[in-house]
Amino acid sequence: MLTIKNLHAGVEDKEILKGIDLEVKAGEVHAIMGPNGSGKSTLSSVIAGKEEYEVTQGEIYLEGEDISELEADERAHKGVFMSFQYPVEIPGVSVTNFIKTAINETRKAKGEDEMPASEMLKKIREKAELLEIDRKFLSRSLNEGFSGGEKKRNEIFQMAMLEPKLAILDETDSGLDIDALRIVANGVNKLRSKDNAVVVITHYQRLLDYIVPDYVHVLHNGRIVKSGSKELALELEEKGYDWIKQEVVN
Ligand code: ADP
Ligand code: MG
Ligand code: MG
Repeated sequence: MLTIKNLHAGVEDKEILKGIDLEVKAGEVHAIMGPNGSGKSTLSSVIAGKEEYEVTQGEIYLEGEDISELEADERAHKGVFMSFQYPVEIPGVSVTNFIKTAINETRKAKGEDEMPASEMLKKIREKAELLEIDRKFLSRSLNEGFSGGEKKRNEIFQMAMLEPKLAILDETDSGLDIDALRIVANGVNKLRSKDNAVVVITHYQRLLDYIVPDYVHVLHNGRIVKSGSKELALELEEKGYDWIKQEVVN
């Protein structure tokens, strides 16, 4: 699903990612962990195609197609979904209307017609039911006065509706209470399938109590310095990141 080869990227003259190799197969969930400032958010932004970062070397493939040169919206249309760290408030645009527009834009980009209203409604109902989201929530203005948990619920709902091939969830440290963690985890667990892949980026092990990853990678100073199974996350929880840094130095 996702193949990253020798990826170097950064901003202006600062290199942040210093040679990342990663292979994520369909059906897999990978967790990327690492200390603050190691490049986790940069990696997710670069995969999603955010403009502020420049790729200086290497490639990113989605289902074998090199997407390194594509704009963020083109990648989204090809099935890359990234959760928003700082979601914007859009007063007057409901959760439902926002996702309807997003879906139809994707279809338009592929040369397809808009989704018929009845089909859209059915899909919204189905996904809302799956994720236990109530009607009231769907008619609220996007992100306006949303709690941390509600923001997460909206993100997961968007993911459910868009049915991405590759979902990248950058779960930044602050503001994720236990409810929000559970919402994300339940959503991911319900939406994971043999046809999609999920990359969960997190500083904390706690999320991985709920989302059990197939592989865990540790990012340090712009490189993946260790990969392992879910046990690696437990080891990190117990020992912190310092021993990894030591290992890298030695
Ligand atoms: P993490 O998500 O692991 O905490 P980040 O990817 O946010 O790490 O940041 C990695 C490093 O790159 C940090 O030193 C950070 O200050 C720097 N960095 C990230 N984005 C930018 C940017 N847009 N401009 C300048 N420096 C950046
Ligand atoms: Mg950070
Ligand atoms: Mg980050």
